[in-house]
Amino acid sequence: MQVKPSYIKKTIAFILLAVTVLLQVFFKNNAAYTEEVYSHGIYPSIAYVLSSVSAWVPFSLDDVFYVTLVLFLLIGLCMVVFRKLKLWKYLLFVFQTGAMIYVLFYCLWGFNYYREPAHQRFQLSQSVANDSVFISVFKQVIDHTNKSYTSTAFFERETGNIALEKSYRQMAAYLHLPRRMPRWSAKYVTFSDFFAKATILGYFGPFFNEIHINRYLTAWDIPVVTAHERSHQLGVTSEAEASFYGWIICVNSDEPFVQYSGWLYALDYFLYQSKHLETRAELIKQIRPEVVEDIKSQHKHWRHWRNAEIDKAASKVNDAYLKSNNIKEGIDDYNGVVQLIIDYTLQKTLIYGAD
Ligand SMILES: [Zn+2]
Repeated sequence: MQVKPSYIKKTIAFILLAVTVLLQVFFKNNAAYTEEVYSHGIYPSIAYVLSSVSAWVPFSLDDVFYVTLVLFLLIGLCMVVFRKLKLWKYLLFVFQTGAMIYVLFYCLWGFNYYREPAHQRFQLSQSVANDSVFISVFKQVIDHTNKSYTSTAFFERETGNIALEKSYRQMAAYLHLPRRMPRWSAKYVTFSDFFAKATILGYFGPFFNEIHINRYLTAWDIPVVTAHERSHQLGVTSEAEASFYGWIICVNSDEPFVQYSGWLYALDYFLYQSKHLETRAELIKQIRPEVVEDIKSQHKHWRHWRNAEIDKAASKVNDAYLKSNNIKEGIDDYNGVVQLIIDYTLQKTLIYGAD
């Protein structure tokens, strides 16, 4: 008996979807294997090929892909309304397209969600969260931010990007980065206005392995957000971990403004998480006035852009997306960077020896 080609065409999406789901279950239960076979084996080659293609194009191929997809779905819907296409055929098309996107998402990047967590990769033990530990690291963060203060007049984006790449290469062994690093040039988010209203500073496009940053970022944001998105491109999926990579890459850079961007970013997180402390006002007094001014300007900038409704809706979508992808903390994962900075700061002398 011969199987009809049209039947194969109709079922291929279902078969690929089933294989992907099975692989998800397997990778989820075998983190060490995922780390070795996918994150350090298959993924770096995928990233290298895709990023080599997208690097030739000055605009975002991922954004073009999303817009084309939405247009196709809308055209199909119009054809159903005007009776040019049967509803069941349209629904089949929607399902097949959704299935193929799901398959591509995981094969091209998403299986990295099932790799070993950062604490395990960096051999960090998780410290018990208490106020005295938090305050001692908070003081160190304030001290480093004060010392690294650099005016925005000394920031130049291209120089910053070169410094980030240098830092990434110097930290490659500690951060367990793949030997072959994908190419990159941060592209602007196509709908930066809309994403700025949702206070989305950047995102990684897995379908063409592209880094995107919002064109309305402040100078203080640019280095640390770019380093954060670059880490996603290197196979880091958790937001806490990507923010930790962003911080560690910036603060270890030899470019003064890049360093300051990393410390300012960490300080902002510590300030946010210190709201319950009785000694908070005393700690804030230790922050250099120029740094306080920079934080105020940065917050003012994002308050101006933020649209509460869009921001809340985007946060809910992001929360659901992260929870469906093995990040049980959802959107709270962003705050996990503080725990990683604390653990790294407490244990770095064990890793690097005394400063
Ligand atoms: Zn991110």
